[in-house]
Amino acid sequence: MFLTITTTGVPERPATDLGFLLHKHPEKAQTFSTSHGTAYVLYPEADDQRCTAALLLEVDAVAMVRRGKGKGRGGAPDAALAQYVNDRPYAASSLLAVALSAVFSSAMRGVCAARPRRAAEPLPLRIEVPALPARGGPDLVRGLFEPLGWTVTADPLALDSAFPDWGDSRYVRLVLESDTLTLAAALRHLYVLLPVLDDAKHYWVSADEVDKLLRAGEGWLPGHPEQALITSRYLARRWSLTRQARERLELVRLAETDDSEVEEIDNAVAAETEEAEKPTPLAVQRRDTILAALTASGATRVLDLGCGQGQLVQALLKDPRYTEIVGLDVSVRALTIAARRLKLDRMGERQASRVRLVQGSLAYTDKRLRGYDAAVLSEVIEHLDLPRLPALEYAVFGAARPGTVLVTTPNVEYNVRWESLPAGHVRHGDHRFEWTRAEFRSWAETVAARHGYTVDLRPVGPDDPEVGPPTQLAVFTLTTVTEEAKAA
Ligand code: SAH
Repeated sequence: MFLTITTTGVPERPATDLGFLLHKHPEKAQTFSTSHGTAYVLYPEADDQRCTAALLLEVDAVAMVRRGKGKGRGGAPDAALAQYVNDRPYAASSLLAVALSAVFSSAMRGVCAARPRRAAEPLPLRIEVPALPARGGPDLVRGLFEPLGWTVTADPLALDSAFPDWGDSRYVRLVLESDTLTLAAALRHLYVLLPVLDDAKHYWVSADEVDKLLRAGEGWLPGHPEQALITSRYLARRWSLTRQARERLELVRLAETDDSEVEEIDNAVAAETEEAEKPTPLAVQRRDTILAALTASGATRVLDLGCGQGQLVQALLKDPRYTEIVGLDVSVRALTIAARRLKLDRMGERQASRVRLVQGSLAYTDKRLRGYDAAVLSEVIEHLDLPRLPALEYAVFGAARPGTVLVTTPNVEYNVRWESLPAGHVRHGDHRFEWTRAEFRSWAETVAARHGYTVDLRPVGPDDPEVGPPTQLAVFTLTTVTEEAKAA
C-alpha cells in the first residue's frame, strides 16, 4: 500500500524543500520498521521544479495475526483464511495512517528546524493514493476532503478490470490537490480520514484515541460538516468515546468563537443582570454559601446544573479537592462564555481533565449525570415553567441521584427590599416564578420525601426579620434508595 506526496517549486523555493519538511532526505531511500510491517520512504522524482515523496508500507500480515492485531474486518476474532488473505497489503487504510504518523511525526506537527517558515506556509500539494478503501464511495470522499480546501478526484476502481460488468469495487483512486494547505495540515487530514474511509480499525480503540483524534483534528475538525461521521468512524463507533470527542470538539469550537462576539454577549448579559440584581455581593454570598455546603458534604465530583457563564465552575476548579467538575447548561451562548472564562482552550492537560462543560436540558433524564457526589442548581429552577418542574425533579433526584443536592432560588418576599424593583415584579425577565419561603419549603419537603432525601433550608444574604433573606438555599442529602430508583 502506498501514497505519494508531490510539490512543485519556484527558484526561491525549490520543490526539494519537501525533503526538509518531511525530515527525509530526497537522495536516500529509507526504511522504518513499524508495528505492522516495514515502511519505506523514497523519492521517485526530486528536482527544483518537482519533488515527489512516496510512502510504501509492506504489511506483515502473518506477524499481525500472531500478535492478535489482524482480526478480520469488524474485529471478529475468527481463524479464517481472511486473516492472511485480505486487502491489507494493497489498500491504503488505517495501517497506512499509523505508518504515516510514525514516519512523519515531526512533519505532522509542523516542526521543521531547517525550514521553519516553509513549514508554516501553504505549498502546492498533490497527494495520490492509488487504492483507497472508501466505504461511502466517491461522494463521501469528496464530502470529507473538499471542505478542507482540497480539489478531489475519486475514481472508483473496477472490481476486476477484465470483467467490467462486475461493476465497481469499494476502492477508489484518490488524488487530492491544493495550494492553500500546509504539509502538516495535509498529513493530519490523511491521518484521520484514511481510517475513516477504511472504516475498519485494525486495533482496539482505547480512550487515548480521543486525544489522538483531537490533536490531529486541531484546526479543521471542530468546524467540519461531517464531524459526526468522522468522529464516530474514527473511534470505531464506540459511543461513549464518540460523545466525549464531540463534546470536546464543541468546546474548542465555542472557545474559538470570535472574541468581539463574546464581549458583546458579556455586555448584554451584564446589562440584564445589573438591572435584576444590583448588589453583586449577593451573587458572591451565594457562591460562598454553596462552596461551604459542598465542602461540608465531602463531595469531590460535582455537577453544576444550569452552570450559566461558569462562575461557580471556575471557583470549584481553584480548589484541588474537586477532581471532577461538570457544568451543564441548556444554553450554548452561556457555555460559550463559560468556556472563554475558564480559558479551556489554553488549559493544561491536568486541569482540563478535571472539568467538562456539556450542553443538555434538565427537563430530560440524562445518563451522563449519574454517579456524582453532589449537584448544584443555583438560581436555575425558577427559569423553568412550573409544569416542567416535575421533569427536572425526576431528572435530578430520581435519575441522577447525587448524594447531595443544593438548590437556591430567590425569595419573592424579599423583593419589596429591592429599591429598583417595581412592586409585583420578578427579579429577572426570564424568571417563570418566584417563591415565598413557605412555597419553597413545601416544594423541597415534597421532593425530599418522594425521592429519599432529607432537606435542610438555609438563608443566603441578610436574613430580614420580616421578609427573610434575598435568596433561599435547600440542602438535600440522600438517605435511602427508593423503590423507584431501584427499579430504574
Ligand atoms: N447557576 C448560575 C446561572 C443561573 S441562570 C448562577 O448561579 O449564576 C439560570 C441558568 O439555567 C441559565 O444559564 C439557563 O440557561 C439555565 N437553564 C434554564 N433552563 C434550563 C434547563 N432546562 N436545563 C439546563 N439549564 C437550564
